Amino acid sequence: MRKLKIMAVLLTVGIMCISLSACTKTNKIEPVVGTELSKTSENKTQSTQNSSNGDLGQAAIPKTDNTPSRTNTPTPIVKSIGKVIVIDPGHANRSNLELEANAPSSSVMKIKDGGGAAGIATKTPEYLINMKVSLQLRDLLQNKGYTVVMTKTDNSVSLGNIQRAEIGNNEKAALVLRIHADSSENTTASGASMLVPLPINEGTRAIIDESNRCGRIILKSLTSEVGMKNRGLAPHSDMTGFNWSKVPVILVEMGFLSNPDEDRKLSDANYQAKLARALADGIAEALK
Ligand SMILES: [Zn+2]
Repeated sequence: MRKLKIMAVLLTVGIMCISLSACTKTNKIEPVVGTELSKTSENKTQSTQNSSNGDLGQAAIPKTDNTPSRTNTPTPIVKSIGKVIVIDPGHANRSNLELEANAPSSSVMKIKDGGGAAGIATKTPEYLINMKVSLQLRDLLQNKGYTVVMTKTDNSVSLGNIQRAEIGNNEKAALVLRIHADSSENTTASGASMLVPLPINEGTRAIIDESNRCGRIILKSLTSEVGMKNRGLAPHSDMTGFNWSKVPVILVEMGFLSNPDEDRKLSDANYQAKLARALADGIAEALK
């Protein structure tokens, strides 16, 4: 009898230990999956790109003051806002001359990607700047609690504009922000503008008011925080990525690569961080 009792006690203790350790394990896993794992993969993406880009100021990017929460606070708890923002970095490291319809049921065909501009002084290709600002903007918005979807995080991925628009549509995005830098024959042209859709079809008619409202707020934030000329909203009926969109969509031109002064700034890591911060502040203001 005594042996049986001892065995019963041992069995009970054993079961308690197993169930306790199971609980402990579950509790440990949950917060890590939510925050830390995704942060690690984001950092990896960014550092890989910095090391392969080889342009100005690359070493300063991870140290800039746009990432204090990551270094000072080891486990930031970000409350989800429940809004999806799609960030669309313009262009790729190659052009894509395939054709696509400029709008649904349109016979006008346009090339998918002409390749973008390059800095008149630095020769930095536009896609590198677009991606660097976009990745920093993604991190800042995630820290504010937004769900951020990137149309791409790899410079070698060349997307068509219908594909880009469909990512925003599928995500039912509160806003799609397309990131670009401008270029002009006039090398003194400077400042930022915000391209917005025109009401050319049912889809664009439904999104122009919200696109204009967000575009105006975000452009104001960008130009006042960074300190550059506000060139205003530029409505376009010929943008494939706008004409296929069913969700608010805007395209920011963050300054002129054809202007030597703005070109040098756009290649500077601190300036890129400033652009990302100003855009994030503008988005938060527009979508609050
Ligand atoms: Zn562009």
